[in-house]
Amino acid sequence: MTERLYLQDSMLFSCEAVVTACTPCDDGFWIELDRSVFFPNKGGQPCDTGKIGDAVISSCDEDEKRLLHRSDRALPVGAKVFVTIDSERRFDIMQQHTGEHLLSWCAWKLFGATNVGFHCALDYATLDLDKPLTHEQVLEMERLANREAAKNGAVTAKEYATEEEIRDLPLRKHAEGLTAPIRIVTIEGSDACTCCAPHVHRTGEIGQLKIVGELPYKGGMRLTFLCGNRALSHAQRMQDAVETIARRFSTARENAVAAVEKQADELSDAKKELKQAYASLDAYFAAELCTRAETVRGVSVLVETVEHVDAKRLRALAQKTQSARSLTALFSKSGDTVSYILSANGISADMGEVAKAVNLALGGKGGGRGTLAQGSAPYRSDLSETVAQLKRYCCQIV
Ligand SMILES: [Zn+2]
Repeated sequence: MTERLYLQDSMLFSCEAVVTACTPCDDGFWIELDRSVFFPNKGGQPCDTGKIGDAVISSCDEDEKRLLHRSDRALPVGAKVFVTIDSERRFDIMQQHTGEHLLSWCAWKLFGATNVGFHCALDYATLDLDKPLTHEQVLEMERLANREAAKNGAVTAKEYATEEEIRDLPLRKHAEGLTAPIRIVTIEGSDACTCCAPHVHRTGEIGQLKIVGELPYKGGMRLTFLCGNRALSHAQRMQDAVETIARRFSTARENAVAAVEKQADELSDAKKELKQAYASLDAYFAAELCTRAETVRGVSVLVETVEHVDAKRLRALAQKTQSARSLTALFSKSGDTVSYILSANGISADMGEVAKAVNLALGGKGGGRGTLAQGSAPYRSDLSETVAQLKRYCCQIV
């Protein structure tokens, strides 16, 4: 059994201890101590990392009453060692965790929503609620949490021996089947609930609480939030992003959104105009292509290469070249890719079969059946020779 010093003082980042066991494991050793400041992987949040003597501790897990510190080297049993954890990492996780208490209390107090899940990663944290809230409600919850944090109330923990003793406490949620000792964490003036993790001493230490994501989840919702430096870093990233956009549009930060919306509208209009222009252009383009078709046994065979025509336009172009009995194979080179379309009308040849021959010749992929097939291939310098071979093949099968 390891004495868990983080339960007594969450701001204790080092201690002296004695090594009580050292067991080899997959990629190092499990070290056990008589006492430790390490918090293990538990309750949806990551463990502490740090050092025991010179040994680097990359992880800490719980095995019933034991704490197992994953070490990069063996330590002699009985050795007196100095134990220290990464205090910045611990404090950051405590900010998120205590912030979760406050946010959960606000959701419960304001809207009767219950926290049903918590996950803390090293760069974000999520909180799951059992019912959906509107965006305005989430903002209200965030405002209240920040007001409560600013009151700088004390965060304290007290252990109780039985469930009977906590029955009448004003807890946010009463869990069943708890094992003694039952630890109740209370935030002065607001939250009280069972919890076994370390917390900051006062709510002011949480810093700013910012909810940055809202998603529907299992009939309720999942909120992504950031506390303390994480919220500050997020604000800086958002400011940098807006400034980059504003500079790109040669406007002030306040006008960046309007500038982006204006350009999006202009782009949408330009795409519509381009589509209409292509439709007109392609009528002439198709007529010109048809002059290059060869008539074989009464079938118009058109096999040509065009440039910078995307797959959608290529298909429309192929349709415009059709006649009563025709086979059209168009290849379009754009960058490093060649798109192709195979279109038939009034003949028995299956374009799916022709597509197999095209894929084989070009090293491409794609397919179809009956009168239509399409696909793409990486561009090769011998494209024109290959298309000439495919043209001979098409003339044979009609
Ligand atoms: Zn807690």
